[in-house]
Amino acid sequence: MRILYNLEELEAAKNEYKQYSIAFIPTMGALHAGHLSLIDKANSVAEKVIVSIFVNPLQFGPNEDFSQYPRDIDRDINLLKSKKVDYLFCPNFTKDELLKIKQLQAEPKLADILCGKFRKGHFDGVVTIVNYFFELIEPDYAIFGEKDYQQLKIIETMVNNLSLNVKILAAEILREESGLAMSSRNVYLSQSSRIKADEIYKNLCSMSAEISKILAGDIELNKKIQRIIDSYKEKFINSGFEIDYIEYHWSRILIAARVDGVRLIDNIGV
Ligand code: AMP
Repeated sequence: MRILYNLEELEAAKNEYKQYSIAFIPTMGALHAGHLSLIDKANSVAEKVIVSIFVNPLQFGPNEDFSQYPRDIDRDINLLKSKKVDYLFCPNFTKDELLKIKQLQAEPKLADILCGKFRKGHFDGVVTIVNYFFELIEPDYAIFGEKDYQQLKIIETMVNNLSLNVKILAAEILREESGLAMSSRNVYLSQSSRIKADEIYKNLCSMSAEISKILAGDIELNKKIQRIIDSYKEKFINSGFEIDYIEYHWSRILIAARVDGVRLIDNIGV
């Protein structure tokens, strides 16, 4: 695996890899098995795989965890070396430098709901950096996890709207044995918070089962779905969660919940 720390090194690598098909996986590091599953998918579609690790300041709000976001590049490099990764791009762009690149706005219909309601400007920061990395790397494929389902939909829309020459592939959510969606932020959960966090997936599963049953019967759909969601919202709140949202979109239930101050997101198809 070649490690590319800056634009010059990326340009030089591009001369080597441009004859191959390229799959690109953008990450913010603190890698876990969920990220590594994206690498397997990348290798199944392309000849060369490029992973990026960059904690993007543009997608963090002023009161969010940019400075506390977990970073451990040496551990990440070792994990990546256990997989077939051809290049790791880990630039150290500053926020000021990034404010000079082309700033994009995420499709408001998709970006103003769910996480976007709680993280103003977050998805603008995401599409800006993803588009910039697409311009720099010129991949044929880019792999995104369904864990960040809203992000996936927003990136797909950006690629369509700008007619970008990259195929977006979705990868399934990888979970801990307990069902908790793997996340870099899970390291912040204490043992007791983790046990509580496990309720997210358990409740998503039973909500999904209840909603599927209603969909099959097709009676007063939206009201019934909302009633189920409301009852689970209350259940979560009673067991000490702070709920940013639980909503139904794209035939999925999506949730953002805070467990002892740690913000976790998850989703499930119905
Ligand atoms: P992040 O480093 O959190 O920005 O994530 C980088 C990529 O990995 C995104 O496309 C995420 O959706 C994906 N990802 C994160 N967690 C998981 C997971 N548990 N399963 C599958 N993909 C994931």
